[in-house]
Amino acid sequence: MTRKLVYRFGFGSAEGRAQWKELLGGKGANLAEMSNMGIPVPPGFTITTEVSVDYLAQGAVNSGVFEAVRDSLRWLERGTGKTFGGLDSPLLVSVRSGARSSMPGMMDTVLNLGLNDSTVLALARRSKSERFAFDAYRRLLCMFGDVVYGVDRRLFDAPLDDARRRTAAERGLPAPADPEALARLVPDSVLGAGELRRVVEAYKRIIRAESGRDFPDDPFEQLESAIVAVFESWNNPRARLYRQMHDIPEGWGTAVNVQAMVFGNLGETSATGVAFTRDPSTGERRFFGEWLPNAQGEDVVAGIRTPRVLARSADSKGTSLEESQPETYAELFAIQSKLEQHFRDMQDLEFTVEDGTLYLLQTRNGKRSARAAVRIAVDMVGEGLLHPDEAILRVDPERLQELLFPAIDPQTTATPVAKGIAASPGAVSGRVVFSASDAEVAAAAGQAVILVRTETSPEDLHGMKAAKGILTARGGATSHAAVVARGMGRPCVAGCAALHVDAAALCLQVYGADGSVVARIAAGEPITIDGGSGNVYTGVVETIDAGLGSEMETLLEWTARVRRLRVRANADTPAQAQKALSFGAEGIGLCRTEHMFFSDERIAAMREMILARDVAARERALSKLLPFQVEDFTELFRVMRERPVNIRLLDPPLHEFLPQEPGAIAELARVMEVSVADVERKISDLHEFNPMLGHRGVRLSITYPEIAAMQVRAILEAACRVKKEGHDVHPEIMIPLAFSAAELGAMRAIVDRVARETFARHGLEVSFGFGTMIELPRAALLADQLAKHAEFFSFGTNDLTQTTLGVSRDDAGSFLPLYVERQILPHDPFVSLDIDGVGELMRIAIEKGRVARADIALGVCGEHGGDPRSIDFCERLGLGYVSCSPFRIPIARVAAAQAALRRTKKYWH
Ligand code: PEP
Ligand code: MG
Repeated sequence: MTRKLVYRFGFGSAEGRAQWKELLGGKGANLAEMSNMGIPVPPGFTITTEVSVDYLAQGAVNSGVFEAVRDSLRWLERGTGKTFGGLDSPLLVSVRSGARSSMPGMMDTVLNLGLNDSTVLALARRSKSERFAFDAYRRLLCMFGDVVYGVDRRLFDAPLDDARRRTAAERGLPAPADPEALARLVPDSVLGAGELRRVVEAYKRIIRAESGRDFPDDPFEQLESAIVAVFESWNNPRARLYRQMHDIPEGWGTAVNVQAMVFGNLGETSATGVAFTRDPSTGERRFFGEWLPNAQGEDVVAGIRTPRVLARSADSKGTSLEESQPETYAELFAIQSKLEQHFRDMQDLEFTVEDGTLYLLQTRNGKRSARAAVRIAVDMVGEGLLHPDEAILRVDPERLQELLFPAIDPQTTATPVAKGIAASPGAVSGRVVFSASDAEVAAAAGQAVILVRTETSPEDLHGMKAAKGILTARGGATSHAAVVARGMGRPCVAGCAALHVDAAALCLQVYGADGSVVARIAAGEPITIDGGSGNVYTGVVETIDAGLGSEMETLLEWTARVRRLRVRANADTPAQAQKALSFGAEGIGLCRTEHMFFSDERIAAMREMILARDVAARERALSKLLPFQVEDFTELFRVMRERPVNIRLLDPPLHEFLPQEPGAIAELARVMEVSVADVERKISDLHEFNPMLGHRGVRLSITYPEIAAMQVRAILEAACRVKKEGHDVHPEIMIPLAFSAAELGAMRAIVDRVARETFARHGLEVSFGFGTMIELPRAALLADQLAKHAEFFSFGTNDLTQTTLGVSRDDAGSFLPLYVERQILPHDPFVSLDIDGVGELMRIAIEKGRVARADIALGVCGEHGGDPRSIDFCERLGLGYVSCSPFRIPIARVAAAQAALRRTKKYWH
């Protein structure tokens, strides 16, 4: 059977329907659906996406397409009683793009096709308005010149401005120099037929001069070349960028809709407007929109005339559509409600009233804020329109972070000076500081500060805590700054390559794309960062407050019914754990113990331990750390009670705990009663070329088993204490960066010995888990061997990504964005799991792990544990839980529920 190339709609029925978006694009499918529902739409036909995909592949339109277009035009002529190119009653058509998922404004449109020097006169006769006909003609010439012949659209402004100036002069009005002010003084509707004729002639000259071609008189030639131009607009830079940002596949192509023109600019009984069935920013159920009498669609969006409201209100003063055209309003109101009921989602409509007759030009699911999305989904369950499972699938989990942090006021006129990686969401303003200690001092004095660093290290932690936000010039989404900031709920923009941080000169320079300095910001000056978008602004930009809200709480309760994956938190402190619980965490999936060693008394003991010359000295220092650790874990268990708490033994290389600045080195030497040279020697001994692949993780515990023993003792001691308080605690002891069964065997021996001693001392036992992170390819490949010792695996996908791709997680910012832009990688693999590579290793590890230990517990604790796409993969892998920063827990709960729903195949998304 030959493929059907064109689908007709209108006159109360259609060949297509709403479900056929793949073939007809969103606009075409919904126009068909509206026709089938008996809603008035201007009749027309849709050329399928398959035709455009073929065109884009071959550079030529398939044979038969234009014949099918001519056939459908004849059908349209019969239905409308008008003729395309006819000199009695000319049919005019629009040509609009319409991809499978809406790409608003990204592709091209041509209106009023079918006009030429002869048909324009017929249109003038028919409409009894020469000015209307020539206005339509000049709009066609401008759009056609721009879209089809590539003439710079701005060139068409001058003749129109001249016409406005002449008209102003005729009316004795002083013409302002600013074109916008001029257009407001002399709007299009005021230009007379004579002026518009002159504009038409000028436009034809511009087209000829710029393109070397004449505007085609033949309406069929106009139509065919407009269709091809719309196919081509799939590949314009705007559309490409939009697809990249919204994950729309390149291969989809766009359908093209050819539709009989209807005019909203035929006089005061005509109008055009846009409407939403609910408020797109709050989600409130109210019919909401704007319209203009005697206007075309572009006039509403152009902002030259102030649009009016649809519904009567206290200050509409007779200007609302409800008051001006009550019958039309009533009809539109009934249609919007019918459409929303039918599509079971908030609709965004475009309509035109031609001489008292209402037409719907488009309906689509409306774009909305995250808050509105949640409210609409929950309300629609209450209204009986949706099942709770569908409501869960309606929400984009990634956008839920908008509910949790302050956001840049959408009304702002401020423009960003630079853009980095959106590392931890939230918008915040503060004065710039360049060191952690300055941050602390300023914060103690009550100042809001943004800590700006080239990159952060664990030494900066106190400053990060004191600051309202963090901005770094280097590092990616899993860099230290990003991970820590997310854990603390601090907004963070990382890897902002346009910045040059000169901490010594207390100055920050921002470079523009051309390499010139666009801003210089000194310490103490205010800036604003938006960790949700990566934008950086100079000065204070207004923000608006946020909170989960009751609708979100309701939605989250619903997720519990369908979710299989448990959701745990990466939390290092009781305060973080508390926060995580308030967001619904079901346990701790990763407590990074190193973060516990940076406060003043602890860092001293830690440094003493590192600088110790022998085991005895090291044990003395460790015995000072033990009570702190016991206290830390006791508090954590008290907060988490019976929930699992996974504690990881020390992971980072020891040099991270040593000072770098001369003053601090001298101070350490004094306290330790050793020479400065001794301290410097130790620091230099600990220097590594590749610390990420160096002496860290379980390797520290192999060389210094007494460190591991101290930590295990603290964990089990705390567990015994809290158990005695009546809580059935569930500690899990996790070994980082292991690649062999032998390492785990050695750790297990330490753990068992310490457990025996501790339990004997307390006269009670606590059941605890022992397991490992899977962070190295070798660990994944030999998972069956590791599983002999490990009762659980927790995939440390930050390191596993780094070690599998051989890409440093702290240095990736300089080239990874380009990899994504060039589609060498589909996403930043530190944000969204590299399913093909890292995912394959996870699959192998799970399979092998289960061979050795059928009931092995499985989770993920890398940053991917909070990424919806990665969570979907974890669901498919059959992991038991995901663990993420406290502030991503609501996102993970929704994403896990969606993943489970998708797996049931009852719903597709
Ligand atoms: C990981 O590597 O995925 C992980 C969770 O550990 P960290 O980020 O602390 O290295
Ligand atoms: Mg790691």
